[in-house]
Amino acid sequence: MNMSEPKQFKTEDLRGEMSGGVPMSRHTSWRAGGAAERMYQPADLDDLLAFLRQLPPEEPLHVVGLGSNLLVRDGGLHGTVLLLHGALGELRLEADGSVYAEAGVPGAKLARFAALHNLRGAEFCAGIPGTVGGMLAMNAGCYGSEIWEKVLRVQTVDRSGEVRMRTAEDYEIGYRHVALKEKGEGGREKGGAVPEGFTLPSPPFSLPQEFFVAAWLKFEAGDGAIARQEIRALLAKRIASQPLNLPNAGSVFRNPPGDHAARLIQQCGLKGRRIGGAQVSEKHANFIVNTGEATAADIENLIDEVRAVVRQQTGIDLHPEVRIIGEKREVGNGK
Ligand SMILES: Cc1cc2nc3c(=O)[nH]c(=O)nc-3n(C[C@H](O)[C@H](O)[C@H](O)COP(=O)(O)OP(=O)(O)OC[C@H]3O[C@@H](n4cnc5c(N)ncnc54)[C@H](O)[C@@H]3O)c2cc1C
Repeated sequence: MNMSEPKQFKTEDLRGEMSGGVPMSRHTSWRAGGAAERMYQPADLDDLLAFLRQLPPEEPLHVVGLGSNLLVRDGGLHGTVLLLHGALGELRLEADGSVYAEAGVPGAKLARFAALHNLRGAEFCAGIPGTVGGMLAMNAGCYGSEIWEKVLRVQTVDRSGEVRMRTAEDYEIGYRHVALKEKGEGGREKGGAVPEGFTLPSPPFSLPQEFFVAAWLKFEAGDGAIARQEIRALLAKRIASQPLNLPNAGSVFRNPPGDHAARLIQQCGLKGRRIGGAQVSEKHANFIVNTGEATAADIENLIDEVRAVVRQQTGIDLHPEVRIIGEKREVGNGK
């Protein structure tokens, strides 16, 4: 048994991959941050359920897709990261015309799959560098579309391995916000839900007790060639407006009602502002890029500074869209 496995795991019963001390910089698009104590990448859904049935109740569990909306602090993560990207990857067309997509499927693959089957309406997913699970968790969207508009139903599992079918009616869904309506972990009672237009300070998120493993999505019948053309046009738009040549996590702050975070940040003269290796992008003011050697602390400090300056100069409190998790590195303990 690997040193990093809690004694309770019987890995001989599992088919996935368990590893210890995994740098989360490898699994987050900011390419920064500390290590996960343990990581489990299940072989498939059955294997995930077997893993969850073994999970000690006290073991913290973090669900990660492509890490494109995630900052892991330099002191790392206690417990186990469940890595669903590269794990739950099934994608198929159902008899009723809906698309079944497992949580680990990347948005780009979903968009291409839909176009291949002459479906329209998934094009916006092409430029979102996250998984279906992460998109459902964030209600990801762009160019006037959001993922939950397309959801017929979702499949979830909880920590004990119980599988559930849910629909949009079970959730509070808003702008970059999704939370179970029922009370408890993941619901408002435990800090998972945030009323529209309001965000808690980071790290606001309790560890999920229930998470997404698959979704059935409904797209319109249409012309696949036009969908592919639309995908190319949307990607070109992103290349022109976003600093995709450097590690980043997309928009750092949510847009406040009736305004744009990027506009406010630029108006405050913050474009190009640096802390260590983190920099407010010159190309898109709501992006913070890792210029090479940024620590998670550099990025978090820059987020705090931007927020403070914008608040001071405009009176508007910007709320982070990115999720910040993990422990701070103790002062005097390395980089
Ligand atoms: C260049 C760039 C452009 C971007 N553009 C957009 C955009 O246009 N629109 C947009 O909305 N976002 C955008 N993003 C942000 C990001 O891609 C989305 O938020 C995406 O949905 C995150 O998916 P992920 O798999 O990477 O999630 P992660 O970053 O891995 O996780 C994000 C959160 O979701 C939770 N989560 C992940 N998987 C699950 C699951 N299966 N069940 C429950 N919770 C889960 C995690 O615990 C975490 O709290 C962009 C990011 C980048 C880097």
